[in-house]
Formats: sequence, structure tokens, C-alpha cells
Amino acid sequence: MDFQLDKIHYARFDYLNYCRHVLMDIINYTENHDVTMTTIPFKNDNDKMTFEKLCEAENEKGTQWLLDNGYECTIYNSAYKRLFFSLLVDFVNFYGASIEQAFSGNIVVAWSLLRRPLQETLAYIEWIYFDNHELIKRMLNEESVDTYDLKAKKNRELRKNIIDEIYKNVKTDDFNVYDFRYSKTDEYSLDGILNGSTHLVTDRNKHFITARSSLNFVLDDEAGRKKCINMYFTAVPFVMYYAMHTIMKLFGEIADFKPYTLIMNEYNHRLKRLKAMQTMSLEEGVAVAEIELPIYCPKCGNKMESLDDWQAYAYKSIQCKQCKNEIDTFGYIFDFEEIEFTHEQ
Ligand SMILES: [Zn+2]
Repeated sequence: MDFQLDKIHYARFDYLNYCRHVLMDIINYTENHDVTMTTIPFKNDNDKMTFEKLCEAENEKGTQWLLDNGYECTIYNSAYKRLFFSLLVDFVNFYGASIEQAFSGNIVVAWSLLRRPLQETLAYIEWIYFDNHELIKRMLNEESVDTYDLKAKKNRELRKNIIDEIYKNVKTDDFNVYDFRYSKTDEYSLDGILNGSTHLVTDRNKHFITARSSLNFVLDDEAGRKKCINMYFTAVPFVMYYAMHTIMKLFGEIADFKPYTLIMNEYNHRLKRLKAMQTMSLEEGVAVAEIELPIYCPKCGNKMESLDDWQAYAYKSIQCKQCKNEIDTFGYIFDFEEIEFTHEQ
């Protein structure tokens, strides 16, 4: 069946695709750099030798010895970083497949692929962001998976608190991101549509009850299908803005990047989202994105801050007029790590 995505959704698809590029860039960077390595701050040479001897015999024994001898923090530090990047791979596998399916018009498949990343994987990434030791501690020490199963009734309060706390620091529309993702009673919630795309018959959410003599999304007419596509390109960028904010902050901390790299990526993300919403001019966008610093060329130090510069930056890439160096902005920008700032700047 020939399908052409309606042009009104192009800008938002572009934003979703940018998010995928950022995630892939972060994963590739991590695979090629020792981002998850942690050095063990041994208290004395004796500890160091004991540990090394145990590791020679069996790595597991070394790990256990660290846990038993006051080095839990080291274990937790390295474990949470590795877990974060593994969760990120899981997230992008489903998310990337989902946006491709949405672009090709397989909207029910696209929705169903979002259930795991948005309702589960992201929740664990948020937990790491909020408290990077607690999850690892529960995973390593507890006997039952119930203690860290965020779907379990007893952990739902924790999941809500984590999301509420993180969301306080994300500048976006006044919206309850927790209810939007998990509410079983709200009219417009992801939970309803994610369930509907996974099951043929649903009756839990009163706003998402399968119509009589029908099956979810199987017997939909063209109007129903269009509505479903519209909701995808409206709701998913909203959740992704919040998700990317959290993921990029956590990555920046783990990779220990310079503040200028972090802020320039944050500006880029804000501009990309405003561009996708298509509700304001670039000038208004630059003001709304609260941009306070210029773009410095990492090769020659040239300062770029005109609206044309920001236009290029928000679009795909910016080229320095002085040295012709080009910065690709359709993904995570690592280029600014090369800049050495002096007081004059
Ligand atoms: Zn330059």
C-alpha cells in the first residue's frame, strides 16, 4: 500500500529523527571512549594487591571483595554507568524502529513499539538520573526482583516521585508528564493508546474501551487512522523532549564534558524542538530558548551570533565564515570540547 506521510508532520518527524541521531551518537561515543571506566581509590597498597590477586583467580571474587571491604561506591559507580548505556541501546532499538514505522504509515506498529521504551526503559534511566546508587544497590543486594520492578504496585509511588522531581527542572508546557505516560483514567494518555495498540480488546481505561463489535485499530476508517497519526506526531515529540533532556544531562555528567559543550547541546535541542512546533519565528524562538551565549568556532575562535547563524545551527549544520570549518548540528555536538577558553572570551 502506498503511503505518503502528510507534509504537516515533516517538521516533527525531523525532530524525532534528530533525537535518534543524538542517542546513536552518544552510544557510539561511549563504545569508542572509556566513559564507563572507574578507577578504584584503594586505601592502601595492601588492598590493591589483595584485590588484584583475587581478580587474577576470578573477576567475580574481586568484585565481591570490593563490596565486602568498603568499596561499594566504586562498584556502584561503574555499574550505573554501564547500566545507563545498556538501557540507552535498548531504548533506541525500539524508538528508532517506531519512528521508521510511523514514517511509513504503519502507525499501530509504531505505537506498540513505544510501550517498552517510554513506559519501562525510560523509567529506569530516570531512576539512575535521580539516584544512581539505589537501583544498583537493589539489583545487587536484594533477593527478589520485586524490589526494583517499577511496574510493581509498591514501587509506583517511587516511580511517580522520581518523574515529578525531574520534571520540575524541564522547561516546557504546563503538563503532567507522569499522568500523560501512565494514567489509566485521563482522556489523553499514552497508556490508553499504547494498550490499544498492543491488545485487540481493551476495557481498563474508560476513554479507551473497544467499541462494540470492533477490535482496536483493526477496523478503523481513514479518519480514525489519521487521528492516530496526528496523535503520534503531537505526543511523541513532547515526551521525547523531556526524555532527551534527562538523557543528555546524565550523559554530560558521566562523560564529564565542559559546561560549554553541555549548554550548546541544550540550545540545539531547544531550538530543534521549537522549530518542530512551527509556532513562532526564529527571532522569537531564540528568545524563548533563552540563548545567552554565542557560538564559537572550535577551530579558529570566530564568534557567531546573528540570526542567520542560529538559523543554520537550528537546521542541520553551521559553517564558520572565517575558516570554513563545519559543525554538524543534527545529533550530539562534540566539537566544542576542543575549545580552550581564556579570560578574554
Ligand atoms: Zn572558524
